[in-house]
Amino acid sequence: MSDTGGGAKIVEVLLPVAVDQTYSYFAPPGLDLAPGDSVKVPLGARDAYGVVWEAAPAPAAIGNLKSVISRYDRPPLSQRMRDFLDWLARWTLTPRGMALRLATRAAEDAAPDAPRLLYRTTGKQPQRPTQTRARVLKTAEGGMTFAKKALMEAASCSGGVIDALVDEGALETVTAPPAPVAEPLDALFGAPRLEPRQAEAAEALREAVFARGYRPFLLEGVTGSGKTEVYFEAIAAALQNGGQALVMMPEIALTKQFLERFAARFGAPPAEWHSGVTPRRRARIWRAAAEGEVKVVVGARSALFLPFCDLRLIVVDEEHEGAYKQDEVVSYHARDMAVVRARIEQAAIVLASATPSIETRVNAASGRYVRLHLDARAGARPMPALDAIDMRVAGPDKHRWIAPRLAMAVGETVARGEQALLFLNRRGYAPLTLCRHCGHRFRCRNCDAWLVEHRFRRALVCHHCGHMERRPDACPECEAEDSLTACGPGVERLAEEAAMLFPDARTLVLSSDFPGGAERLRREIEEIASGAFDIVIGTQLVAKGHNFPYLTLVGVVDADLGLGSGDPRAAERTFQLLAQVTGRAGRGDKPGRALLQTFQPEHPVIRALLSGDAEAFYAQEIALRERAGLPPFGRLAALIVSAKESALAESHARALARAAQSLPPTPRYRVAALGGLPEENEILVLGPAEAPIALVRGRFRWRLLIKAPRSADLQGFLRDMLAAGPKERGGVRVQVDVDPQSF
Ligand code: ADP
Ligand code: ZN
Repeated sequence: MSDTGGGAKIVEVLLPVAVDQTYSYFAPPGLDLAPGDSVKVPLGARDAYGVVWEAAPAPAAIGNLKSVISRYDRPPLSQRMRDFLDWLARWTLTPRGMALRLATRAAEDAAPDAPRLLYRTTGKQPQRPTQTRARVLKTAEGGMTFAKKALMEAASCSGGVIDALVDEGALETVTAPPAPVAEPLDALFGAPRLEPRQAEAAEALREAVFARGYRPFLLEGVTGSGKTEVYFEAIAAALQNGGQALVMMPEIALTKQFLERFAARFGAPPAEWHSGVTPRRRARIWRAAAEGEVKVVVGARSALFLPFCDLRLIVVDEEHEGAYKQDEVVSYHARDMAVVRARIEQAAIVLASATPSIETRVNAASGRYVRLHLDARAGARPMPALDAIDMRVAGPDKHRWIAPRLAMAVGETVARGEQALLFLNRRGYAPLTLCRHCGHRFRCRNCDAWLVEHRFRRALVCHHCGHMERRPDACPECEAEDSLTACGPGVERLAEEAAMLFPDARTLVLSSDFPGGAERLRREIEEIASGAFDIVIGTQLVAKGHNFPYLTLVGVVDADLGLGSGDPRAAERTFQLLAQVTGRAGRGDKPGRALLQTFQPEHPVIRALLSGDAEAFYAQEIALRERAGLPPFGRLAALIVSAKESALAESHARALARAAQSLPPTPRYRVAALGGLPEENEILVLGPAEAPIALVRGRFRWRLLIKAPRSADLQGFLRDMLAAGPKERGGVRVQVDVDPQSF
């Protein structure tokens, strides 16, 4: 027992690990800790990093609590940020420590910036003048200071040359304050002339940002309608107020093109946040966001966890994108969580899309979101003309995937000096490889999936786990030589056909699995935009958000792909994807057109696309969801139970289902009897069944699907069910996915 005089506190510290609870520590009187502070605490035999979640005056008796070791020099996590993380953890059934980890991972080495070393000339001549040395001195002459890297680049010399000049006294170093993380932005720099419709939408957003407070908007407008210009005005409003703004984008949409456009509007680029940013820079942006030095961050979904100190606006661009759903470690939907964050921060939020998700459409229809609509392309550009190619008539011969009519259109486009895009959402050469002789098919040894032939890599690849094996010359089953046949097309095969049809065209194949990663993709996307290619062949990578001014023809090679998957969201997804990809055409000076190769031209999705009548499609889809009690009219959760042995996963899943059935009714939910139709507050537990992909990376997966009306407490039920169910043992893992995107 110790006497705790004035100032001593007990603090509850949350650690960024898979634990929900906080740990209590004693804060010695000299260390005045407040919620949000980053601290070093003893944990077993080691020291750990954590964040103070609560602090209270210490009672007289504090038992044998350990003491906080020290506080880090790091901006505190605000109350709002902590509320947001608590909320996210509750909603996704994630331990709070894991939610904290999302927010602090990037800060790991967020030490204050060190001063920089700059170089300048002294006026002294080097003892041994060489051409290179003279060039360096000439570059730096006149007392200008240079960072080492900048001087190396400007004088095209090595670092050694500069070091030698310092040694000889011809250059000297001076220290300068750390470079700012981002250049200052100017809200009035490149203000555009908006069209009346744009101006009206922009004004509504500006008003909302100025008013402060939670205000959600759907900014809907066909591809090329000028949505970006409109939400830029909302950003300008946030800047004029001295506040911060966050723009979220699917990672791949974050191109140099976008950054340049931003810079043209605000005088400097925004701070970027995505997987390509170095950890050191991330740490700096993290700190700068917390200290208010960075005003605008443009980033992928993880930017949502930056500790902004004065967030006035969140923009979620392409809000319908599946890429916003994160399924690793913590499973959350970044768009939905952005809305929650905006509510907690009392900020405006803009969900922008040409093809909003059904959820967002319903929220707009019910008045929860204000809908702003741009119904024509900016600059009086027409929408592309769409037409179907009925493949039942024009059926491809065995190894042709480009119908004659599409081939002709591509030929004409290229001849006019314009660009054509052939779109096929399938990586690799062929989705299936089989032996003509014995029918043997290549299956992944870890997963329940066929191997996909990738001819460029001369390999068979599993698209689920990445397993790769050499494509053999003979069938491993019957040993027949030359009997292996590729079935169906992938982009690589399409490229082969295009090369045959258009041998002189400059053709580029774009696929996410090619070596070179994000950097190469960015470069290639810029090249397409600059008109360096005649024909572009690509997967959905090229469909999203880009502006290709020379592109006037889009050929969708298999418009039906994805419609037959049995997933209730299949129609919505296909509609969105095809509207996006056909919308790439005609964004420059010349009008565009798109041809859809389809075996089912009267399918509602294809019809909606051809007629341009999105309203009819949405109305039908929304009615269907409502009847079936599917999101957003009802709620869903999936429990994936996995283990090295299928029987183990299955029995665990069955035990969970039994546990659910045994839960007594509560005022917040009741579990529906098996076989019955759910009533008010009734939760339906479906399954277990083998998951759609029953084997992934050597783990067998069984799935329970939970369907609940909006009135029921789904999270409460899930918690109770997991508590009542068996312990996870024998390598069994249970993964909770609230609001699953595919089911
Ligand atoms: P969206 O985001 O809706 O797809 P963008 O904002 O990218 O549309 O605009 C599409 C094209 O129209 C861009 O090239 C943009 O520069 C141009 N644009 C947008 N607003 C205007 C305007 N008011 N006047 C002329 N061109 C515009
Ligand atoms: Zn696999």
